[in-house]
Amino acid sequence: LSDRLNNVVRSVSGKSRITEQNIADAVEEIKVALLEADVNLKVVRRFVSRTVREASGESVLRSVSPGQQFVKVVYDKLVEFLGDERQDLALRGPDVPSVILFAGLQGSGKTTSAAKLALRLKKEGRRPLLVAADLVRPAAVDQLQQLGERIGIPVEAIPGSKDPKAVVKAGLARAKKEQLNVVIIDTAGRMQVDEALMEEIRQVSALAKPDERILVADAMTGQNAVEVARAFHESVDLTGVILSKFDSDTRGGAALSIKTIAGTPIKFIGTGEGVEDLEPFYPERIASRILGMGDVVSLVEKAQETIGADDAERLQKKIRSATFTLEDYLEQFQRVRKMGSVQSLLEMIPGMKGNIDPDQLDMDQMKREEAIILSMTREERHNHRIIGMSRRKRIAAGSGSSVFEVGQLIKRFDKMRAMMKKVSKNKKYQSQLMAQM
Ligand code: GDP
Ligand code: MG
Repeated sequence: LSDRLNNVVRSVSGKSRITEQNIADAVEEIKVALLEADVNLKVVRRFVSRTVREASGESVLRSVSPGQQFVKVVYDKLVEFLGDERQDLALRGPDVPSVILFAGLQGSGKTTSAAKLALRLKKEGRRPLLVAADLVRPAAVDQLQQLGERIGIPVEAIPGSKDPKAVVKAGLARAKKEQLNVVIIDTAGRMQVDEALMEEIRQVSALAKPDERILVADAMTGQNAVEVARAFHESVDLTGVILSKFDSDTRGGAALSIKTIAGTPIKFIGTGEGVEDLEPFYPERIASRILGMGDVVSLVEKAQETIGADDAERLQKKIRSATFTLEDYLEQFQRVRKMGSVQSLLEMIPGMKGNIDPDQLDMDQMKREEAIILSMTREERHNHRIIGMSRRKRIAAGSGSSVFEVGQLIKRFDKMRAMMKKVSKNKKYQSQLMAQM
């Protein structure tokens, strides 16, 4: 029934538009997909209803359903939303040390990510210093020292100290003295957000005045990520997020939740336990993983590539006003080559469905016809009636075909054009024609 309704809508307006009713099913599906990807419920509601509002009234491409098109809109919005801010680090020039503060819950991947980022920056020509300011977990200092040794990066630590501020102070002084230009501070986590932790990170941040305040969040902690991000954001005003453990089978909904709640860009993702496993954040990749509807997205992309709603409208006008030219005909060939099938040409040229024998339009013939049209002047393409004998000879020579073939093409085109005109003037065919667009 909804298919039939769509057709009614199409035949009334020429093509359908996105309405809340005709995408209701898709909206439900998308909500489920996002929830399954561990996106926070509030974020799902907010994101989806805003997207529905924005997409309402948008015209729908021929050959996809409004629901399918809506999935693509959601995907585009996700990409845009996740990646709208600069993702590179805001670092200072080589002579002034930049400071990067790492924050996050225990086990989120702070220490590992700090080492990964240090290695990455070293490869870019920076001189990093790692600062072991997690003095809560017994083996934390050791862990950072071992990592530092492995990647050849100095680590500032004060064995036995209980004062993270003292270590940070020592680190900053050492960086100045040894001309190390990126100071990366690893801090203590807790099992959960608590006031003592927040107070400690606030103090360290006030002392170190970091250029970047990075939250390391475990991509697998879907729902919880929101509260964690909010708490850290309130304490230290985050400038970025590293999502660790993206190599797990998580769909990564945390990325969307964190971005929505804290408004903080995701700068890197952790993709393994190794020190090399840190990658820049690519919004397209994460968006398709979160939504998990790659098939629909690529279907709509293909339809957009081949024929846009605006193109269809333009074409339809041309046919009605009988200004469809050989140049438009040529454009259709080029579309068909993209789609790779003759059948789709028939479907794309309004009024042609079922009116032309598909065998008449094989690919080889298309190539020959294309060559002939390409040998015509612009004037000839716009008005095929001026193509007399001497022009035919010139075109035939230019395209490596015979005068007879040029004549055949012109005849065929003329016939087709006349039929299109007839079809588009006939009320009974009109709705059929519209439905195809
Ligand atoms: P911290 O408590 O926040 O400092 O977390 P750690 O850096 O000690 O990491 C906790 C655990 O997660 C360690 O076993 C790490 O090897 C592991 N880990 C960290 N990042 C990743 C990642 O991107 N992928 C995987 N698979 N494991 C990670
Ligand atoms: Mg740690």
